[in-house]
Amino acid sequence: MSKYIFVTGGVTSSLGKGIISASLGKLLQERGFKVTIQKFDPYINIDPGTLNPYEHGECFVTDDGAETDLDLGHYERFLNSPTSQANNVTTGRVYQTVINKERAGDYLGKTVQVIPHITDEIKRRVTLLEHQDEYDIIITEVGGTVGDIESLPYLEALRQFKQEVGKKNCIVLHLTLIPYLSAAGELKTKPTQHSVKELLTTGIQPDILVCRTERKLTKELRAKLSRFCNVETNSVIEAMDAKTIYDVPLLMLKEKLDEIVLRKLNLRKGKEPELIAWKDFLGRHKNPTNEVRIALVGKYNELQDAYKSIYESFVHGGAMNECKVTVVPIHSQKLESGDVEEALKGFDGVLIAPGFGERGIEGKIRAIQYVRENNIPFFGICLGMQCCVVEYFQNVLNYKGAHSSEVQPDAKHPVIDLMPDQIEITQKGGTMRLGAYDCKLEKGSIAYKAYGKITISERHRHRYEFNPKYLEVLEKSTLKATGINPKTGLVEIVELEDHPFYVGVQFHPELKSTVELPHPLFTAFIKAALKHKLS
Ligand code: GLN
Repeated sequence: MSKYIFVTGGVTSSLGKGIISASLGKLLQERGFKVTIQKFDPYINIDPGTLNPYEHGECFVTDDGAETDLDLGHYERFLNSPTSQANNVTTGRVYQTVINKERAGDYLGKTVQVIPHITDEIKRRVTLLEHQDEYDIIITEVGGTVGDIESLPYLEALRQFKQEVGKKNCIVLHLTLIPYLSAAGELKTKPTQHSVKELLTTGIQPDILVCRTERKLTKELRAKLSRFCNVETNSVIEAMDAKTIYDVPLLMLKEKLDEIVLRKLNLRKGKEPELIAWKDFLGRHKNPTNEVRIALVGKYNELQDAYKSIYESFVHGGAMNECKVTVVPIHSQKLESGDVEEALKGFDGVLIAPGFGERGIEGKIRAIQYVRENNIPFFGICLGMQCCVVEYFQNVLNYKGAHSSEVQPDAKHPVIDLMPDQIEITQKGGTMRLGAYDCKLEKGSIAYKAYGKITISERHRHRYEFNPKYLEVLEKSTLKATGINPKTGLVEIVELEDHPFYVGVQFHPELKSTVELPHPLFTAFIKAALKHKLS
């Protein structure tokens, strides 16, 4: 049987439950346990796939094609192991299952209620992972903040679950904030006392308090929190603000969070976490010997979370090159008029971001023309790849009226077009081409050199593709299709000949970059940017 750790949050949102969960998971994994992390999202959407990135940040896609919360990205980056649909549960999904069962007659004769039907479904989804693989430990992050109406069914399910599996098999870690009042010159515990009280009203006593703080927690403060919140003194953990999220596992190790968890769960201590690869990464990340500046051209730039995995992939790839990567967001709409050269000069590389719809497309195309003509390293992801195909057909091959039919439905030359199996689809949720597909690389290509193998697998999230009717034209041009889906023939990668680094990919490499396995294309792109800078 697996052991369970629930992570709840109090006082405010954005305290970093995802990072604490991932850091704890990492330490337990290093001690030799098989760990997975799950996220409960209390919103009513079935998944975040239909949410605007401004609402909820990036939509993270798993190998099995689930559109999920961006915290799953942290879990994968930290644990270096893939997650799946079962790792993300939303209220929408829980209710949908229960309502479908009701329609099927599974509860015939009974009134369907939050307790027990919704809570039973939540509990079933906690154990689903246990059936999927033999995990020693399952960490479940409960989204939202204690006290939210939407979180109530989850907390009730948690209370029941803990009762059913027993204290030695299930613990609750509560992440909270200890604010510093500069006027009083003091750290304040009252908000935490209140949030624990709130948690107690749902029948849950936290076993561990992890306290986000700007200043060190004194012994006295820990004792006070212990007394008021009924948590052992050694289970009051300090979580100081860190310079980088990647410091957090080491900070938690210092606080012995992993040991406390194992003791409470009656598990052997295993070997002391050495975190060799992790520390090696941190060493490189913190001691760069060089620096490059990359322009990230997108349209959701106001919110870093919208491109979370891209930013993190630059951190991983940067460390590989011992190079600090300064990523500067540039709004694609701003490039639609005005001087592109002025906006992009001084950058060592340009990444054109994924996206949907027409807004800012012309700006992306102008940026691509500039980097193509000026031999500046270029990396296009998904929509970024589609834009580079459009730019090439318009400006190099002189196809007037070449465009993506997403932007110009009646384009004379729809060089990017809706995939045939998308034509009949009207529903928006979960209907894109999603998840992992194989891709075969052309020997000698930049991609092949980066990956060092012929067949790769990458994750997808799109409706449009390179129109195969134009493949013959492409083959005779200098823009080469260097990666092809072996089953469907779909063009996955394009590369421009006679350019230092010009790579467009239909898939999302950023979703597979981890601390221990930085993505080869990001590593290669940064290397090319560095070369460009030094040349
Ligand atoms: N909007 C484009 C498509 O659906 C690209 C999607 C993306 O960048 N993820 O094909």
